[in-house]
Amino acid sequence: MTIFSKIIAGEIPSYKVAEDDAYYAFLDINPVAKGHVLVAPKKEEDYLFDLDDDTLAGMALFSKRVATAIRKAIPCKRVGVTVIGLEVPHAHIHLIPITKEADMLFTQPKKKFEPEEFKAIAAAIAANFE
Ligand code: 5GP
Repeated sequence: MTIFSKIIAGEIPSYKVAEDDAYYAFLDINPVAKGHVLVAPKKEEDYLFDLDDDTLAGMALFSKRVATAIRKAIPCKRVGVTVIGLEVPHAHIHLIPITKEADMLFTQPKKKFEPEEFKAIAAAIAANFE
């Protein structure tokens, strides 16, 4: 079981922003930006492009809804999208609110937030999820 499956199952806590039958969205614990969200399929698969077509296509549509909510909740120009997947072997998409290209860089120092701040960020995004 991957760490993300444990998060999805509620065995490990997370700051959830959205969920449906097939996908789970939550704040990255080591964010490069305020409102940095991860979207993962509930179905366990390591590599994004090994997902079956329906799960991958549905993940894009679910991510669109999450990105729309992020953009409403967090001041930004766009929501950047990236896939790395070298750390956690459970497919996921990074959604990152950005105002400039450098905001996407994973080499920058990670942002620090208190639990209460993480909670408020997740709640603000969740409140805008449709
Ligand atoms: P990647 O696999 O895309 O290279 O990186 C995994 C991402 O997941 C990183 O940005 C990291 O901060 C995040 N991450 C790793 N473990 C956890 C966790 O237990 N909880 C949360 N919320 N994020 C995690």
